[in-house]
Amino acid sequence: MTNSVTLNQRRVASSATRRLLRQDGPFHTEAGEIWIEHLSCREIVKPLGTPLLVYSAARLRDNIAEATAAADASPRPVRIHFALKACYLLGVVSLIQQAGLNVEVMSEYEYLLARRIGFTPDQVIVNGPAKRREFLERAVIDGVSLINVESLSEIAFLQGLGRRLGRTINVGIRINPLLSRRLRGPFTPPGSKFGFDVPGGEAAAAVTRIARSSFLSLQAVHCHGYTRQYRPDAHRAQVSAVVRFLRRVEADLGILIPALDFGGGFGSRYLMEAQGQTFRRFIRAMLEPLAALPGDRQIIIEPGRYLVNDAAVCLTSVLACKRTAHRRWALVDAGRNILPPRENAEYVVMPCQVSSGRTVYHVGDFLCVPSEPVPMSVVGGAMRPGDLLAVFNAGAYTFSMAQNFGEPIPNAILVDKGEWTWLFKKRSVEEQFVK
Ligand SMILES: *Cc1c(COP(=O)(O)O)cnc(C)c1O
Repeated sequence: MTNSVTLNQRRVASSATRRLLRQDGPFHTEAGEIWIEHLSCREIVKPLGTPLLVYSAARLRDNIAEATAAADASPRPVRIHFALKACYLLGVVSLIQQAGLNVEVMSEYEYLLARRIGFTPDQVIVNGPAKRREFLERAVIDGVSLINVESLSEIAFLQGLGRRLGRTINVGIRINPLLSRRLRGPFTPPGSKFGFDVPGGEAAAAVTRIARSSFLSLQAVHCHGYTRQYRPDAHRAQVSAVVRFLRRVEADLGILIPALDFGGGFGSRYLMEAQGQTFRRFIRAMLEPLAALPGDRQIIIEPGRYLVNDAAVCLTSVLACKRTAHRRWALVDAGRNILPPRENAEYVVMPCQVSSGRTVYHVGDFLCVPSEPVPMSVVGGAMRPGDLLAVFNAGAYTFSMAQNFGEPIPNAILVDKGEWTWLFKKRSVEEQFVK
């Protein structure tokens, strides 16, 4: 399975975005323009400039409600931990925290950010293939909900820490079951840097090691295999593989592992729904194999993209239009500083002024390197410098992965009905660098 967004998926995403704009939701067209809640894009950029990352509070709240409803509808209890790496903006993640969701972090920096947002340690899951020892110590002393271990050296360190502190540390173990090529995710190829391999026996050996330790208590099995996965059968195959693993190790060791953490890797909500899927049905379908597992278990999911991706657009201005041998270009002022190139990004571009016409423009950035993400294209009437474009699906892994390249990371705001508030202010050269 390749991970790149195919031409066909891009067509589906473009037509889904056009349909989304025709509904009367947080993103809609009115008087020939794209609006975000009660503000037109043209009005929004006037005082703030472009590029500008704009989140809709209404869409965020709705995505949170949808995820919560899916968890509540599940026959097994499901706890949601937002994967913080998808978005670091405090004003965005605060809405997630206020709604009662939990959080997942991969570093001490993310942990401190989560605490600043208001998450308590017992709402935090710590993941990561390699964690700083000072961070592990802080996480244990603070009493985080769960630390998923990914190496024998980490197990040994935590065991020593437990002895030193005279207490039992709750841990989970991240495993890599080997799925068929068709269903395997990008995080779990054979030889992945993540977790412990199941086929080679490393995972079972690590479980034994933890189960025999007097200072560690095995609370969870964790598996995160996917990104932007719209097919529940892939997630279900992963759940099946975890169930097979559990049945074997639990029988061998006479233990019961109370929590199962299936990570994230769900697609953008409106694209999922455009394909006839809902989060509720997705979760139900993926968890079906749990019927074969005895005992009460707490289920954990760690969605990142699903909660935030379709809640933001990046507004960008056309700086130059040109015609070359093969195409018409519209070169814009958003580059890697807010739309980092990733082969799994799902950016969809639309002109903010609705225009008739069938001219296809290639959208490129202003940077002195070949334009990525390529190809983004926009269809409409003739374009001119100064025209405003909206890039949809810009809420996940944009700000958090933005690069200081060519221009600084731009302003970001949250729109709530007719008002906007700051999420991030662009820094000048003087503010950014020490002289
Ligand atoms: C990145 C990550 C997630 C979130 O993934 P999404 O594709 O954004 O849902 C969850 N858990 C772990 C361990 C991750 O690395």
